[in-house]
Amino acid sequence: MSDQLLSQLAAEAARLANLGFMACTAGNVSVLLERDPLLAAMSPSGVDKGQLKPADFIRIGADAKPLPPDARKPSDEALLHMRIYQATGCQAVCHGHPPHATALSLGGGRELISRGVEMQKAFAGTATHVGECRIPIVENSQDMEELAGFVCAARTQQVPAVVVRGHGVYAWGNSIREAGRHLETVEWLARTLWLCRVGGIAAPAG
Ligand SMILES: [Zn+2]
Repeated sequence: MSDQLLSQLAAEAARLANLGFMACTAGNVSVLLERDPLLAAMSPSGVDKGQLKPADFIRIGADAKPLPPDARKPSDEALLHMRIYQATGCQAVCHGHPPHATALSLGGGRELISRGVEMQKAFAGTATHVGECRIPIVENSQDMEELAGFVCAARTQQVPAVVVRGHGVYAWGNSIREAGRHLETVEWLARTLWLCRVGGIAAPAG
C-alpha cells in the first residue's frame, strides 16, 4: 500500500474535518488501491477523522471485509464505498455530514438545484456557470446494500455526488483531492441556496 497515497487520504480527511463535515467521528474516506479484484483503503470506524495517520487505514475487498483479516473495524458505510467504485469507475470516495446540504435535504425534494453559480464549475466536467446543476437526494437507510442501491440508481453523469436525506453527502472523483473537492462543492452550493432562501433572494429561473 502506498504510504504517500495514504498520507494524502489522511490529509484530505483532516481538511474535510476542519471544514466541519466530520463532526463527532462522522464521515469516512477511501481510496482505490486495485481495480481487479477490488481493493480499497478505508478509514476506521468511530475515530476522529481529523487525526488519521496512514497506518490507521484498513484494506478492504469488494465485500467491505478487511483483507487480510484485521481486528480493526472499517467504517460502517464501507460497503457503500465499494459499490460506488464498482458503479462509477472512480478512484476515491469521500463522505461527510455537512450541515447545509443535510438541512436542505430535509425539505422533501428529490434534488438540490443550483442555477447560474460559478462554483458549479468545481464539479469535474462542468465548464460553465450557465445552466442548472441538479444534485440528487436519496432516502437514508441503515442497510448498506439498500443505500448503495439508492445512491447508484440516482447518480447522474453531471454531478459526482449524491445527498442522503437527513444524513450527509457521498462524493467521488478521479483522485482523493477531487473527491474531497466534490464533497466541499455540494456543501458550498447548498450553503448558497440556504443563504438565498433565508435572504428572500429568488434563484434565477432555469
Ligand atoms: Zn454518514
